[in-house]
Amino acid sequence: MNCPLCGIESTQNHLRYCKKNINELPIKDLKKMYLVHNVPELFEYDNLIENYINKQMSLPDIKREFNISYATTLFMLNYYNIPTRSRSEAFKSCNKKRKQTNLQKYGAENVLGKDTIIYHKRNETMKSKYGVYNAFQIPEVIGKINDDNYYLEKYGMTLSELRKENALKFWESLEGEERKKFIELCNSNRRKTFDKNYGGHPLQTEDIQDKMKLTNLSKYEVEYIFKEKI
Ligand SMILES: [Zn+2]
Repeated sequence: MNCPLCGIESTQNHLRYCKKNINELPIKDLKKMYLVHNVPELFEYDNLIENYINKQMSLPDIKREFNISYATTLFMLNYYNIPTRSRSEAFKSCNKKRKQTNLQKYGAENVLGKDTIIYHKRNETMKSKYGVYNAFQIPEVIGKINDDNYYLEKYGMTLSELRKENALKFWESLEGEERKKFIELCNSNRRKTFDKNYGGHPLQTEDIQDKMKLTNLSKYEVEYIFKEKI
């Protein structure tokens, strides 16, 4: 993906710092510009209507075909004021098609995105650019992640609603056996994190748990999924 203003290869975050962003456009307009520029086959208005409304593609379908996250698709649907399908509707339409899907694929690309090349690449970019390994470590971002107004403007829902929505969409796309496998995957991932960060002795203080929550978004999704009954 590259910057629509200056053309360098960049993540979406770059736009806010891009020297050519002289008009100080609002973040949501920058984000829309970036997405339409890089994925016009999905995010031009007509194409989004075609895929999401006419073809009835679900968020998981879009994720598979275009490698675009649920949150990003939701953002663009909101941006264009295209009504999102209710969860039960989305579940019905994706359930038919989802037989051929694969948990590993979902897991690696979506919820357990930490193991992907993109994740590591992004981390290196963050590190060299801002001296931090994670967007959540940037003070400005930390302010925003707790600011519901920011999320309301961007996604039309609060941060916790957005997380819950995403987690539920993913969870509902899984069937019985896959749910079990997914929970196992989460547990094993969680153990690895504990081993790595705390030498296998998780400290159950709120402080540490809070810090862990901030380390990446996928953990939030996992956390909410754990609250669901199997
Ligand atoms: Zn730029």
